[in-house]
Amino acid sequence: MSTERGNLSINSENIFPIIKKWLYSDHDIFFRELISNACDAITKLKKLEAMGELDLPDDNQFKVMVKVNPEEKTITFTDNGIGMTADEVKEYINQIAFSGATKFVEQYKDKANEDQIIGHFGLGFYSAFMVADKVTIDSLSWQPGAKAVHWESESGLEFEMSDSDRAERGTEITLYLNEDSYEFCNEYRAKEIINKYCSFMPVEIYFENANAPVEKKEAEEVADDKKEEAEPKPINNPNPLWTKHPNDCTDEEYKEFYRNVFHDYREPLFWIHLNMDYPFNLKGILYFPKINTEYDSLEGLIKLYNNQVFIADNIKEVIPEFLMLLKGVIDCPDLPLNVSRSALQNDGFVKKISDYISKKVADKLTGMFKVDRENYDKYWDDISPFVKFGCLKDDKFRDRVKDIIIYKNLEGKYITLPEYIQASTKASDIDKEVVDEDKTADVADDKLVDVTDDKDTDKSDADSEDIKDKEDGQKEDKKTIIYYVTDEKQQSQYINIFKEGGLDALILTHNIDQPFITQLEYHDQTIKFQRIDAEISDSFKEDTEKKDEKLLKKNTEAMTKLFRKVLGKDKLEIKVEKLKNEKLSSLITLSEEGRRMQDMMRMYSMPGMDNSLFGDSELLVLNANNKLVQYILNNEKSEHTPMICEQLYDLALLSHRPLEPEAMTKFISRSNEIMLLLTK
Ligand code: ADP
Repeated sequence: MSTERGNLSINSENIFPIIKKWLYSDHDIFFRELISNACDAITKLKKLEAMGELDLPDDNQFKVMVKVNPEEKTITFTDNGIGMTADEVKEYINQIAFSGATKFVEQYKDKANEDQIIGHFGLGFYSAFMVADKVTIDSLSWQPGAKAVHWESESGLEFEMSDSDRAERGTEITLYLNEDSYEFCNEYRAKEIINKYCSFMPVEIYFENANAPVEKKEAEEVADDKKEEAEPKPINNPNPLWTKHPNDCTDEEYKEFYRNVFHDYREPLFWIHLNMDYPFNLKGILYFPKINTEYDSLEGLIKLYNNQVFIADNIKEVIPEFLMLLKGVIDCPDLPLNVSRSALQNDGFVKKISDYISKKVADKLTGMFKVDRENYDKYWDDISPFVKFGCLKDDKFRDRVKDIIIYKNLEGKYITLPEYIQASTKASDIDKEVVDEDKTADVADDKLVDVTDDKDTDKSDADSEDIKDKEDGQKEDKKTIIYYVTDEKQQSQYINIFKEGGLDALILTHNIDQPFITQLEYHDQTIKFQRIDAEISDSFKEDTEKKDEKLLKKNTEAMTKLFRKVLGKDKLEIKVEKLKNEKLSSLITLSEEGRRMQDMMRMYSMPGMDNSLFGDSELLVLNANNKLVQYILNNEKSEHTPMICEQLYDLALLSHRPLEPEAMTKFISRSNEIMLLLTK
């Protein structure tokens, strides 16, 4: 063949600046593109062999070789696949590859920053010109009697073709790196990139450094007797676990795969092997990682593959957001990857994929809840943030799992909400509230609700009345109160009171729990969550008569005056109550609505606003049955009274939250003073 020259008919002014801008952070993808082309060429040859088009020798070993030469600044990609004839090079490279690149640029030139495409798919062979001044191809087609062909291009715009002396079937592509891209022929950098993109490509990939230090080579020769060990090993795993049938995989294999891919040496809790052929092709493994909720941020990692070629991590357009808390691999060859991310987001097919994954996860959890409740309970602390996040983010998922959400109670048992409600209904002192429906219509808004006691009505009465009320057009609703704890240490005082009173509460300590219970309340208007310290439940109070109440009211007024003066807090709210437990002197309660508002402020970091705006949601309850309280009630003028007031307030605060440093200092010195009084 005489040397042939040609022009690649690309508008040369545009193409490079645009592609460069596009690939600004992803210059390394040429590794993926060229190696996956090499794998494709081998896959095609395997198909031809399977079809009986050619016979390969028994010892034929398919492989892709990547060789870096740091001295010459070249990288060579060699495969023993299908190869190309001169005509095919003209067609596939001069036309397809180059027109592909042109199309790519046309499609994205105006959208460079706003509309990202996933993993920069679509550039193919042409991506070599991002890092190389010159690219050569030497190829020998598998076809009998084919002549080897040489192709080269220095600019990516013009090419030259001639005969090649390549004697083996397949293709060799050499990149002569440009000055800015020398890093890619560094052995470690190259391996790192191949690892990232090609770990699971379907053909064995070997790596060689042409300038590897001589000592190393000699050492290899010395170890002649251990020849097997010295034998080069592929740097990828061409048969990743997800490509196998789930029935053929062992637990140990799943765990090992998890360790290798995610470098997490804690065992995963369990996993889901996705394996679907119809109506779309999707395979993968999703792992529920073990998390330490106290220290770990919930950050999963979902690696997306297309026919074993790595595309990108955590593609939120394809994978439901809440699944990103898991760790896993998903291989979906049917995904349209040469479209922009925003197009993917609105793609009905992609939506189906994401629904399928979400359904599989819900099915797995439901199955476990039903047949393996013991393990389900055991894993719950680890998986609950994930399940709750899923409920918040995905209504369909919520519908699927809402009945299998469990809660740890004060005894450390895991129960469902209906179980909790049933148990607390059985308890004789069930608390109910009549709530003005108007004001709770928007529960998510955390509006204050007007609460009055309705403890004399039993549940069935309450329900039938409820219907009647509605029929009458009266806006009243019964709510079952669900008590919860957010910090077992901080709220231990209240927990003890609850336990003594035979009441139960749910333990909800994770950040996600607050928005989660708000959602539960929103979807079920018959329940209301209340933190254990939000108010004193009626079951802890003595039954009082009318005259007692008058007295308590009077006491409340007197104590409010006294405490406000002593503590210098003119907004402090105080209530004197008769609590059954005489040992209890003072307690702080914090109204549920006010506290949720404060928590929200804190979450959106608006400190300083909370106390001034919602300070009055804090209530100091004094127990009229307690001796100390009785003392100050009867001895307002005593010289010790101010000190007792201060101490009672601090003690109440202490079982609620840590004291501020200044208050703590005062509390300690006051405590010492009080002890000193004992010695007198
Ligand atoms: P794509 O792979 O998306 O089709 P590319 O630009 O990467 O686009 O490649 C264009 C074409 O060149 C391929 O479809 C293939 O026919 C041919 N080709 C590229 N690399 C090789 C190779 N190593 N062996 C055989 N054919 C190849």
